[in-house]
Amino acid sequence: MRKTIIAGNWKMHKNQAESKALITAVLEGVSQMKGETLPDIVLCPVFLSLPLAAETLKSLKEKHGEVLNTCYVGAQNMDYHESGAFTGEIAPGMLTDIGLTHVIIGHSERRQYFAETNASVNLKTRAALANKLVPIVCVGETLDEREAGLTDQVIRRQVASALEELDKDQVAKIVVAYEPVWAIGTGKNCESTEANRVCKMIRETINELYATNVADAIPVLYGGSVKPSTIVEQMEQSDIDGALVGGASLKAEDFLPIIKGGAGRSKLMGTRA
Ligand code: PEP
Repeated sequence: MRKTIIAGNWKMHKNQAESKALITAVLEGVSQMKGETLPDIVLCPVFLSLPLAAETLKSLKEKHGEVLNTCYVGAQNMDYHESGAFTGEIAPGMLTDIGLTHVIIGHSERRQYFAETNASVNLKTRAALANKLVPIVCVGETLDEREAGLTDQVIRRQVASALEELDKDQVAKIVVAYEPVWAIGTGKNCESTEANRVCKMIRETINELYATNVADAIPVLYGGSVKPSTIVEQMEQSDIDGALVGGASLKAEDFLPIIKGGAGRSKLMGTRA
């Protein structure tokens, strides 16, 4: 079975007290979901709230036990160097040092506003894996690219670049998030069947690149205005293994039903001749 993952990208929202309140409300809510096959749940607050979030997760795991075993804290970004004169940056080892397990790489807002490129996404993906962090690698086309009929070409290029120089064992450890840029934070949802088609194409692209069925086990998430009202249909699709959620991850009352929508939804791995 492929893992189902529901990840919350809090972007540049929530101070310390608000972060603590949100992570507590989400995890307390998850602790009530006993008996469900829960997805992996990854909460990604701002850098300054990461130590607090990691500590809160640890203490709530001690309080509630196994039911929170699939909950994790992740970062929204990182640098790819191990250390050095890179003012304002955070190294991968600094994330694992405080107990983090996941990192979002190449979010479209990083590509758009912070000059992230396919090349830097590749360097960060490799650095994450070298540090035993699970990279959630984001890909997605802009509205112009979609309207010009370039979606598949753009996504294939982004995927191939992100994976350059990764061997088969490394690629098996990544997570991909398909996030059409025009659907992020806009309230415009990509049709579930179209999102599924692209997620499937991502999986096929990886399998072709590695000439194996390695991608049949890689979770491919959808992101872009996911809400409690959309998650069920999205999770019904054959190739969508979860969601990367922005706006709707900022309130426990929105995020908890999304987590519930991902419960018991692990997909059978495809079979390839
Ligand atoms: C995101 O930030 O990755 C995202 C998908 O945002 P939203 O859910 O708000 O569209």
